[in-house]
Amino acid sequence: MALHTKDEEARTPYQLPMPKEAASDIVVPNAIPEDERVWVPQAENVWFRPLCLNASTGYWVNLLRVRKSGVLSRHRHPNAVHGFVLKGRWFYLEHDWVAEEGGYVYEPPGETHTLVVPDDVEEMITLFQVNGVMSYVDPYGKPTGYEDVFTKIDNCRKHYTACGLGEDYVDQFIR
Ligand code: FE
Repeated sequence: MALHTKDEEARTPYQLPMPKEAASDIVVPNAIPEDERVWVPQAENVWFRPLCLNASTGYWVNLLRVRKSGVLSRHRHPNAVHGFVLKGRWFYLEHDWVAEEGGYVYEPPGETHTLVVPDDVEEMITLFQVNGVMSYVDPYGKPTGYEDVFTKIDNCRKHYTACGLGEDYVDQFIR
């Protein structure tokens, strides 16, 4: 096919097949879900909503929702985390800054912190991309538990089975 103008070429889709080893894409129309059941309970006043559970490279992308006075337990990251605050406000007990709506946060490898949502914030939602593992620790670093992409998948399966969406509901987010 002969392309006659620059505009025509710019608007021509890539003509070759994608690599056959490539995974399929994920498109989530309502990332902040209308169906409450999509939120997976994680702790008191804390839920997550899976978006990409990357079992093949060991990371996950989710929305974290914390309601009034919620706390995400103290944990250590051996790998980097990226966060984008969609709603509300939160801070870490270990830092003097506050993550505000519209803000971006980078958590470097080696960070140990405790996420708190202030009493005056009804609801906080933040998109987090978490690599590897979250190691839950006591105030002196002694491990008390962990989460990785596989425990996330497992928690999704249990919750989606219990709430009626079905254990296969999580499959659309796994790559
Ligand atoms: Fe963290």
